[in-house]
Amino acid sequence: MSEWIRHLPSIKQIQDQRAFADLVQEGKMDVHYLTRLAQEIVQEKRGALLKGSKLSKPMTREELLGDIMEELKKRHDTLTATAFQAVINATGIVLHTNLGRARLNEEAAAAMSKVAAGYSDLEFDLTTGRRGSRNEKVEQLLTLLTGAEAALVVNNNAAAVFLILRAYAKHREVIVSRGELIEIGGSFRISSIMEESDAHLIEVGTTNKTHEQDYIEAINDQTAMVLKVHHSNFKMSGFTAEVPREELITLAQERNILYYEDLGSGAFYPFEQKGIGEEPTVQAILAQGADLVSMSGDKLLGGPQAGIILGKKSYIDRLKKHQLMRTLRTDKMTLAALAMTLQAYLNQATLEATLPTIQDIIVDEETLHERAGCLCTGLNALEGIGAAVQATEAYVGGGTMPDVTLPSYAVVVQAARYSAEGLARALRAQQPAIVGRVEENRLLLDVRTIREKQLSVIVDAFKRLNGRSYSQ
Ligand SMILES: *Cc1c(COP(=O)(O)O)cnc(C)c1O
Repeated sequence: MSEWIRHLPSIKQIQDQRAFADLVQEGKMDVHYLTRLAQEIVQEKRGALLKGSKLSKPMTREELLGDIMEELKKRHDTLTATAFQAVINATGIVLHTNLGRARLNEEAAAAMSKVAAGYSDLEFDLTTGRRGSRNEKVEQLLTLLTGAEAALVVNNNAAAVFLILRAYAKHREVIVSRGELIEIGGSFRISSIMEESDAHLIEVGTTNKTHEQDYIEAINDQTAMVLKVHHSNFKMSGFTAEVPREELITLAQERNILYYEDLGSGAFYPFEQKGIGEEPTVQAILAQGADLVSMSGDKLLGGPQAGIILGKKSYIDRLKKHQLMRTLRTDKMTLAALAMTLQAYLNQATLEATLPTIQDIIVDEETLHERAGCLCTGLNALEGIGAAVQATEAYVGGGTMPDVTLPSYAVVVQAARYSAEGLARALRAQQPAIVGRVEENRLLLDVRTIREKQLSVIVDAFKRLNGRSYSQ
């Protein structure tokens, strides 16, 4: 072991390598930073050797040096590549949180890059030449679309929940049904957010059943609000009971306490009318008299990451003036993208064709069947590839509508010399990366989330795989 450590090259030796000069030559990273990376790698190797863990390759000096140079190139390439790699989503999950949730419509993406690259009237009134409000335009769109008296945008829905609890329930009590004390992906827990905001959580009812009487008994002079939380990715079934929204709103009004609902995804589009899920629209919930609601910008709405707060003007006004707002305020790119997303909703006739998230959720089975057939034919034309179309169930994802499955089609694909996992790995290494799902040892490419123009890109990726001689 100690002998191996003596085989570690010096930094000078690494710098003298041809491969090092080649990386410098690329002109993406200064010698200074490449040297730091080299030091980092040597340090790690030394640490591993001291701990006695085996190196994956034989230990001659040359091989160890080769190993280090390879690792150096890998780190250099990763750090100098585009920040995030493009992915073709073949999972069938429309709002895939790990893949970035909603994809924006073209107008939103263009507005985002335009405002990013130059100056804008973000907080400037071009008529008066005075300071303006960054929130105003988006607020006007939001109130027009939902009927809310006022609106406010923060960084994400988790921030919205925190701000509302902090502003309205600090050191006071918040009543929540036990059936709604959820934890969602990325460890967002209602109870923890509550603790952080110094609000006292008063749990009522049981996991499966909560009655109006439970709420009534919990109300006292310390009660600040009744909070209703969307179940998100958790499904209740069987012997259950919850208090209808109208009753809770009436109760809160009678007792002069605030009714706030964390809608999670929140939908402006009537998915229920299309036979998809039972999600009431945000407009309908506000019309029932909720004081405040909050939702994500990048879930069912189909926009950028944002937290949208809607409700009565007096409540929103106080939030706008809250000191925390300065820490939660959204950047110009987000506001630009959100404004363009909301503009798409102004025209119901074109909405379905212009907003990718809605498109992907409501696309009809026939279109998907054709799309799958097209991909299947393309793949079967390649040597060593076997593909077949299979009916599948796709999901909305993003913690929305967990009990809704969307009928879809996938291409089940096999490639000579590849296991399903091996093939999945090889596809993830392509550019753009292709992410499918492996089920029962077979690789499925669900076409619900694949765009027409990506079909040929996938076929090309398989052609490249075919060109490789090594086996997996
Ligand atoms: C998704 C979700 C959140 C968090 O929203 P982000 O925009 O991801 O911060 C909060 N509450 C519920 C019920 C959710 O579903």
